[in-house]
This record gives sequence, C-alpha cells and structure tokens, in this order.
Amino acid sequence: MGKALIIGAGGVASVVVHKCCQNSEVFEEICIASRTKSKCDALKEKLDGGKTKITTAQVDADKVEELVALINDFKPDIVINVALPYQDLTIMDACLETKTDYMDTANYEPLDTAKFEYSWQWAYREKFEKAGITALLGCGFDPGVTGVFSAYAAKHYFDEINYIDILDCNGGDHGYPFATNFNPEINIREVSAKGSYWENGDWVETEPMEIKRVYNFPEVGEKDMYLLHHEELESLGINIKGIKRIRFFMTFGQSYLTHLKCLENVGMTSIEPIEFEGQQIVPLQFLKAVLPDPASLGSRTVGKTNIGCIFQGKKDGEEKTYYVYNVCDHQECYKEVGSQAISYTTGVPAMIGAMMVMTGKWKKPGVYNVEEFDPDPFMEALNKWGLPWQEDFNPVLVD
Ligand code: NDP
Repeated sequence: MGKALIIGAGGVASVVVHKCCQNSEVFEEICIASRTKSKCDALKEKLDGGKTKITTAQVDADKVEELVALINDFKPDIVINVALPYQDLTIMDACLETKTDYMDTANYEPLDTAKFEYSWQWAYREKFEKAGITALLGCGFDPGVTGVFSAYAAKHYFDEINYIDILDCNGGDHGYPFATNFNPEINIREVSAKGSYWENGDWVETEPMEIKRVYNFPEVGEKDMYLLHHEELESLGINIKGIKRIRFFMTFGQSYLTHLKCLENVGMTSIEPIEFEGQQIVPLQFLKAVLPDPASLGSRTVGKTNIGCIFQGKKDGEEKTYYVYNVCDHQECYKEVGSQAISYTTGVPAMIGAMMVMTGKWKKPGVYNVEEFDPDPFMEALNKWGLPWQEDFNPVLVD
C-alpha cells in the first residue's frame, strides 16, 4: 500500500513501529526518524527481517527545513508524529510544504506555557484544505479512541448525547514509588495544571485534583479518580450534538499523588527556567532526567488499564446510558511488543489512524479531530489490532 514516516523513537513510537510491521500490507515501508538516531536504529534492529522495509534517519523536528529535506528524500504517504507536542507545528509546516498527510497523538504545546488547546493547530485548517492534504489530530487513546467512541455512540445509539464522562484508569503497578507512564514532562504538566470541565458551552475551572470520585472499574476494581482538564473535551464539546457537560477523570494512587505534591512544593515541577551553576535549566526537564524512562517500565508493570466513556442522552425520546471501554493488560502488551499498556493503548490507535488516512477511509483535505470521521472502520480495527472494546448499557454513573 504505502510508506509512513514515523517521527520520534520513544515509548509510543516503539509500539507504532511494532504495529506497522504487523500490518505490512498497509505499511510496506517505514522510516523511523528522531533526534537520537541510535534509538531508531535499536528499533530497526529489533524488527528488521519482516515484510515491512525499515530505514532510519536523524532529524531535529524543531527545524522545518530538516523535516522537509527528510520528507522529500523518503517521500512518505503520511507523517506519523509521535515525538512531543512541541514539534506539532513544525511538522505540520513541513507537511504543508511537501503536500504530505499528517497525524499526531497530542495537541501542540508551546514550551513555556501548559495550555492543552487546539487553537494553534485548528488555525491550519484552510492551509491544509488548499494544499489538499489531511491532518488527523489527537489519534492516541485519549485523545483518540475516546473521540471514536463518542462518534460511535452518536452514530449508533443516540439522537443526542447530553453528558460524557471519560474515565481513564490505570490499575497497573510498576513497583517504583514514583514514575510516569509516558513522557514525564508532558505527564506532570498535565496533572499539575488546573482541572476543568465543559458545561453548557463554557469551561468550569477547578483546582488541581480538587474533584475526586471513586469508581469500580470492570476487570480492575475500585480506584480513586480525579477530574483533570484534557484536550479532547474541547473538540468533543464542539463536535458532539446536544452536549451539556463533558468531564475527564484519571485514576492516581496515593503514592503518586504524595510524591507529586512534594515535588511541586519544592519547585521541581516548574517549567520556568532557573540558573544552576551558570547554566539555565528547567526544573521539570531535570526531573525527567532523573526519573525512570517510561519506555523501561514495560517488563515490571503488572495489572490492567481500563479506559472508556460513559454517555447519557436520548434515543427516540427515551433517556439512555451507554458505557464503552477497553481493558488492556500491561504484561500482555509487554509480551507482544515489549511495552507497557500506556504506550500500547496510544501506539495502536496511532497506527490505525495512519491506516485510515492511507487507505482513504479518513482522507479529506483539512485539519480534523477523530470524532469528525466515520467511527465504524476504526472500531473494527481496534478489535483486530489489539484493543478490543466492551459495551455496557446499564453502567453505574459518576455523580
Ligand atoms: P517519549 O519521551 O518516550 O518519546 C518522545 C520521542 O520524541 C523521543 O524519541 C525524543 O527523542 C523525540 N523527540 C523529542 N524532541 C524531538 C525533536 N526536536 N526532534 C526529533 N525527535 C524529538 O514520549 P512518548 O513516546 O511517551 O510520547 C510520545 C507522544 O505521545 C507525546 O506527544 C505524548 O504526549 C503522546 N501521548 C499521547 C497519548 C494519548 O492517548 N493521546 C498518551 C500518551 C502519550 P530523544 O530520544 O532524543 O529524547
């Protein structure tokens, strides 16, 4: 079928590469390109010899001209951006210049403020339309599958959806007192920011971790979860008909929260540069350097994740509820691709999203969030490629 350029060689990229190689009919050729080429080469070494041809390259994705040169050389059908959110705009610029389709798993973030909003990327809509290329935004699990679940609920089960609660539960244990399951800088920026939810067309802001609920997750059990701001709230609030409120909850264990509070209290989670021994350093970036690499957690993490959405709304004038979720086992993921479930649940949808664009199922000029496309082929692909979903038409609701 075609060629994909994968940018980044971290935890999520590793899963994307494994999954593309399993799906060699679509991904005949991939190039893994990242800042540290040795990480790309290590991935190639692991997976070489299969049907998918793998090459690697060094690229600084902050530099449009380097990206353009690489794209012109490799000529991919799509660029899969699984580097960091800071690189989204430069990669989109390079895609525009070379007229190449684009996808990512996280919205653009400027280095100096944690915003979690789509405004910068949505501003590219007209340019992508004119260039005749597709940009698929936020195609991991959350954002990503949560948007596909929402589109699927809207298409098959509701005339209007009034309430969505997205529940992200990680029941896994890696045995460390404190570690993050994906890039620590992005993860800590996300959880130490103020919380917010979308209600009646407006944001309601909360203090970090102010709203706590307990939920009994299928196959995982009872967990504390906390309301966070999350980027898909913004696009779903616009794209889902009849919506009154959307909230996002994530589970955290007490040890994680206690450590985070302490790190915050001493200033280690700050993104303001400070001077240290004559050098400017960002405390959060230094913290990242001393924490375990998320890519190394795979072998030691046991337990399951359960991520899904509870919908409330109306069908044929009747009130209706619907819960759709995926349960993923950390050790099963490790056995299959050498990664824990957080990277797996992000990397599989990223591969599927790229496949949707490459096969033309989700291809139209412009910049889109996942819920703007037909969810059915994506839902089918989730079952096929390792993230089967389950449904409950009478779930316990979150108050
Ligand atoms: P990692 O930190 O493990 O990997 C990031 C990779 O990007 C590294 O290989 C890094 O290179 C590379 N990189 C960073 N800066 C540049 C640059 N300027 N040029 C080229 N390469 C660069 O992160 P994860 O794999 O955990 O996360 C990847 C993305 O997935 C993030 O954007 C994250 O927010 C998103 N994500 C989305 C989720 C979802 O459900 N939607 C869930 C989890 C993550 P180097 O090795 O040199 O540092």
